[in-house]
Amino acid sequence: MSYRVTLIPGDGIGPEVTAAAQVVAAATGISIDWEVVDAGERAIAGEGTPLPDSVLASIRRNRVALKGPITTPIGSGFRSVNVALRQQLDLYASVRPARAIAGEGTRFPETDLVVVREATEGLYSGVEHWVDREHSAAESVNIVTRRASDRIIRFAFDLARRDHRRRVTAVHKANILKTTGGLFQTAFREMQAKYPDIPSDERLIDNMCMQLVKKPEEYDVIVTTNLFGDILSDLCAGLAGGLGVAPGALYGDDLAVFEPVHGSAPKYAGQDKADPVAEILCVERMLRHLGETEAAERVFHAVWETIAEKKVVTYDLALPGYTQHPVPPSSCSAMAKEIARKVPLVDPHVPLLRPTGTGAGHDTHLEG
Ligand code: NAD
Repeated sequence: MSYRVTLIPGDGIGPEVTAAAQVVAAATGISIDWEVVDAGERAIAGEGTPLPDSVLASIRRNRVALKGPITTPIGSGFRSVNVALRQQLDLYASVRPARAIAGEGTRFPETDLVVVREATEGLYSGVEHWVDREHSAAESVNIVTRRASDRIIRFAFDLARRDHRRRVTAVHKANILKTTGGLFQTAFREMQAKYPDIPSDERLIDNMCMQLVKKPEEYDVIVTTNLFGDILSDLCAGLAGGLGVAPGALYGDDLAVFEPVHGSAPKYAGQDKADPVAEILCVERMLRHLGETEAAERVFHAVWETIAEKKVVTYDLALPGYTQHPVPPSSCSAMAKEIARKVPLVDPHVPLLRPTGTGAGHDTHLEG
């Protein structure tokens, strides 16, 4: 059996990390027929638009896509292709696991979090305008609906139940944003009653940021609105070892697009230097989605062993300032080749050794 999957190489380091991910996917022996389509800067050069209809049609047809990061001009220029893709395909659930791998590149080796972010509305709805002709004031509209809140919160509880997670925490700012934050909070409280078997609670966004950098091991699944989820998923990626190792997935009702948390990192483009692990772990998530659990486990074990062994790792896991035990850095392609070499050799049934951290105590004064 062969799977047909849309592949969007993306911009900046995108083509390098997606090529690396393809090398590892091929090593699993699962047959994947990649349908390559361009979005972002490459599509502007070729087709005059950053998001051609053919890209949307390909994802709708194949129902599964692997995507590299896409550059968005800052402050002006075309609207984010990433935001447009999520809105046009109704990819409402952005799921970003942040799990420390082999204790490397992190001060918090026990980190194992999942951020579930609403991806179609909030402050990313794109409704903003100048208030006056002089451009001295501007407004952005924060759209929060009951329907979108209910479905993302339900998604988070279902994920927690399916993946045997410990707890669901809703993050909002309902003390200040009384209508939009309040609506999300009400939706969460009503959904809590439907999942009595799953411990759940709430945090305000500011307190949550502090809690996470102090004791991430106390949290598990975090469900939140679009902007808070964007910020928290980078924060959680940092706790788990950095953007280089943080995968992500976007789910709609019957579509799934796998993309790393990181962006196109233009300063490293074309240098074969970027960490390919985030995109490789997107392949791991994709294989799980396709029901190829054994192959997914092989990829995860091969990534883990490569990072634990630390002979062939990219700069972000190798150099002083990123790790306590520096080694010479390897290239993106060399690390991918090493992970691919290990894929058929690992035993996916052997439990991975979890490194132990300091595990700070529970401080109830800091909660609320
Ligand atoms: P970025 O994630 O590209 O880079 C942030 C930092 O992380 C940089 O220091 C970079 O060097 C490092 N980094 C990122 N990926 C890495 C990897 N694989 N290996 C090693 N180091 C890595 O974020 P940015 O600089 O804020 O954004 C650059 C562009 O990417 C912008 O145009 C932005 O809009 C876009 N972006 C796209 C997506 C997406 O496609 N989903 C997500 C975020 C940002």
